[in-house]
Amino acid sequence: MIKISKLVHDYIQRDEEGNPSGTVRAIDDVSLDVKPGQFIAILGHNGSGKSTLAKHLNALLFPTEGAVWVNGLDTRDRDLLWDVRQTAGMVFQNPDNQIIGQVVEEDVGFGPENMGVPTEEIWKRVEESLKAVSMYDYRKKSPNRLSGGQKQRVCIAGVIAMHPRCIVMDEPTAMLDPSGRADVIRAALDLNRNEGITVILITHYMEEAIQADHIFVMDKGKVTMQGSPREVFSRVEEMQALHLDVPQVTLLAHRLRQSGLAIPEGILTKEELAEALRRCRQ
Ligand code: ADP
Ligand code: MG
Repeated sequence: MIKISKLVHDYIQRDEEGNPSGTVRAIDDVSLDVKPGQFIAILGHNGSGKSTLAKHLNALLFPTEGAVWVNGLDTRDRDLLWDVRQTAGMVFQNPDNQIIGQVVEEDVGFGPENMGVPTEEIWKRVEESLKAVSMYDYRKKSPNRLSGGQKQRVCIAGVIAMHPRCIVMDEPTAMLDPSGRADVIRAALDLNRNEGITVILITHYMEEAIQADHIFVMDKGKVTMQGSPREVFSRVEEMQALHLDVPQVTLLAHRLRQSGLAIPEGILTKEELAEALRRCRQ
């Protein structure tokens, strides 16, 4: 679905007069592959290059060096720009900056309308997309009256109405309360599992990454760790050295293990910890 080969991205810094004064290397030699249908999480502290990477998947940025292919489309080819953007839809942090319609269903219809989809087909897609994120009952409402989590799900519906193969979400839950966060993540998981849409989720919340098929951890523009959630979260000290948390229950299990209990690394859920503790007592 996605192939990134030796990607480098330099931003040009400018002085007060707007003259170039230097460069910042935001992506430094990143190579990775994402298979169709995978649910990927990207973790990393602020400034590690996650958003820059996301923008390359949508051809919002062009490689300084290296290359990115989205479903085989080379993002360096400007003639493919709209094909790339239609293949990999983007959802950003702040839903208020992404909603333009006065009515939910109208907002969701904008993307397909701009693509020239016939009217009848647009309505079909709007209905399907809103149902997929459990927002169909709100179709006649004004987006202003929705909660943050509901707005973000409308944004996701707007993206899936364009029938992308892949959705890239850049901290979509950062501005939401816990219940809004859970709803958005559930919607993303449903799309992945029921519709086979490839999901790339950038997040600060470790709990949201537990269900991913694969995690990439970024630091200083590089992918420094990767693996299944269990593999990555087993490496508690390394994650902490990168100023990242691991899920709370993983950390608790790690501490219990350090204190001498025979608990394996990489515990991801309360149920797993309970089971491990039960075995300790036997
Ligand atoms: P993250 O999303 O992980 O917080 P970003 O991709 O936003 O990281 O930023 C990576 C690096 O690139 C940071 O050092 C940041 O300051 C720099 N950067 C991001 N956007 C720009 C820009 N438009 N101009 C110059 N530097 C930028
Ligand atoms: Mg960012």
